[in-house]
Amino acid sequence: MSNHLFQVPLTKIQGVGPQKAEELHALGISSVGDLIEYYPFRYEDYRVRELGEVKDGERITIQGTIASLPTMQRYGGKSRLMCRVTVDSVLVTAVWFNRAFLKDQLTVGREITLTGKWEQRRRHLTVADSEFPDRGTAKSGTLQPVYSVGGSITQSTIRKMIDRALTQFGAYIPEILPDELLESHSLIPRSEAITRIHRPENTSEGQEARRRMVYEELFLFQLKLQAYRATHLKQADGLVHVVNNDEIRQFVSVLPFDLTDSQKQVINEILHDMKQPYVMNRLLQGDVGSGKTVVAAVGLYATVKSGHQGALMVPTEILAEQHARSLKKMFEPYGIEVGLLTGSLTERKRRDILASLQMGLLNILVGTHALIQEDVFFRSLGLVVTDEQHRFGVNQRSILRRKGMNPDVLTMTATPIPRTLAITVFGDMDVSTLRERPKGRLPIKTYSVKHDMMDRVLGFIRKEAGLGRQTFFICPLIEESEKIDVQNAIDLHIQLTQALPELAIGLLHGRMIASEKESTMGAFAAGDTNVLVSTTVIEVGVDVPNATLMIVMDADRFGLSQLHQLRGRVGRGEHQSYCILIADPKSENGQERMRAMTDTDDGFEISRRDLEIRGPGEFFGTKQSGMPEFRLANLLNDFEVLEQARDDAAAMTSKEEFWSSPIYGGLRDHLAREAQSGGEPLD
Ligand code: ADP
Ligand code: MG
Repeated sequence: MSNHLFQVPLTKIQGVGPQKAEELHALGISSVGDLIEYYPFRYEDYRVRELGEVKDGERITIQGTIASLPTMQRYGGKSRLMCRVTVDSVLVTAVWFNRAFLKDQLTVGREITLTGKWEQRRRHLTVADSEFPDRGTAKSGTLQPVYSVGGSITQSTIRKMIDRALTQFGAYIPEILPDELLESHSLIPRSEAITRIHRPENTSEGQEARRRMVYEELFLFQLKLQAYRATHLKQADGLVHVVNNDEIRQFVSVLPFDLTDSQKQVINEILHDMKQPYVMNRLLQGDVGSGKTVVAAVGLYATVKSGHQGALMVPTEILAEQHARSLKKMFEPYGIEVGLLTGSLTERKRRDILASLQMGLLNILVGTHALIQEDVFFRSLGLVVTDEQHRFGVNQRSILRRKGMNPDVLTMTATPIPRTLAITVFGDMDVSTLRERPKGRLPIKTYSVKHDMMDRVLGFIRKEAGLGRQTFFICPLIEESEKIDVQNAIDLHIQLTQALPELAIGLLHGRMIASEKESTMGAFAAGDTNVLVSTTVIEVGVDVPNATLMIVMDADRFGLSQLHQLRGRVGRGEHQSYCILIADPKSENGQERMRAMTDTDDGFEISRRDLEIRGPGEFFGTKQSGMPEFRLANLLNDFEVLEQARDDAAAMTSKEEFWSSPIYGGLRDHLAREAQSGGEPLD
């Protein structure tokens, strides 16, 4: 990390020329520093074992004496070499494939070390590797690192190069963690840890080395988040919102429902932050249907009442339109102006909106990422809310933030994040959680059915329509091609129109122009259509409380969180709602996802299982989400280290000395470099 080895070119390593250096580039390795931090992902065990302790089918290394002359068979271009070896006074049969050249070296009485797969019943070893101790051994007795390799770089090349790099430069690996942390967690020095990760003498040494480097990785990551947080807490340069409690109470009292206790509590947390001179940086998480929008609305109301403007950024146009519609309705009585900015406005409308925004005539602007374009200026931006935040990158959030004089920021997500990931990705934020859904909501009944049950599914649609309820019918998702998605939706729409002639069936997909989408969505929201056939464009946020049936075609093509989001489009009113997943899942994973969906409709449980099935890397989709990629740490297993690292980083950054003492100079340098290389700014 913080050292000059990243400036030392690979060609300084003995035996590495421009050609090899070029090949290493392809693996993302461009300096000596990179190479020595290119860690193995597992080890092969070449430690010699006793025959008595090995199990059938294991890969083992044993040592013995050659007891018979070898025999060799050739067939095709291949060969099979066989000889007997005495190991621990047991006669073992060793077999090599395609190692004909060894034949003359297998002399009776010679010592040999064999590694391979053990077959207990026949006392038979299929040899993968063998060495003669009288010629010196390289592998036997060791744990050999296994690296991820590709192109022309083989396992043994990279082993050799890393070995040389460590021999030449190992002594120059600087320590980066302060002594106090090394001591309190009994961590071994950095140069030793890096060397041992590549060349562990034994398992426990390898584990110690790994423990040290995992801690460092997570600590440095947390340090960045906590330093960011600490600088913000120190700088009382945020907007001080002046909030009149009576006005807020009045606003809440005319809502068509009573707020849940959860909603009241998170509103208090938010308003409390907004009144402070510090910049609010708060995450609001709440399962689908928990009522986040109204919480955001109260915040927006408070900022407008304090003489500022509010922005609400959402991932899709459909959602932007829906929010604009419902906020307009809420704010109309107060003379608060709500505008909508999406990519599909006419140039003239767009200019109008931007002008009123800049003059302060618009109080609240709702929109897609169109909000963060360069020519969007607010007169006085006081609060930024991003909805369904997991869809936005950290960078997009901070661009919007910078459009104001340090506005307060509220980030909302319906993907409940397992605690591990919340600490990781949002470690710089305060977190509010909506724990309950509005009263009177019934759990959604979920069924997983096969394609041949289509007739009964149609019957279900009729029954719900008979009760005056509505249905979403989601088409399969073909990731690679929006065109096929759209065609599927069109085909399904035709089929359903024929099968259900008495019902009004709408169609919605991404290739429709904005006004078509709006009128289709409007008709469905107004109850004019019974069924809405749609691609996943309605995945997030859409709120039509009269819809009670969600049908997902080829549900096994969807990820778990996505299915939960889709299911969250129903169960938003007082009526019993249902979700039908149509799928014949072939893969274990697909079956597991269907099972998880029918087992629970608790978003936290769903995301926990999703994390288990997909692993943290994919959980948030791409790097775009701000989800870091760790080299060594595994968030599922190293969770406790992560928590410890977070506490340590928070404690350290809250100390005055951290920002001034030379002891922490290395860490501060590291932060400065991280900030430069495009991470969240440390301003
Ligand atoms: P989400 O958290 O998924 O964004 P919404 O804010 O869209 O949820 O709210 C879901 C539905 O519940 C909306 O129709 C909203 O009007 C309604 N709602 C919100 N809060 C309450 C409440 N306290 N009581 C009853 N209904 C509520
Ligand atoms: Mg929502």
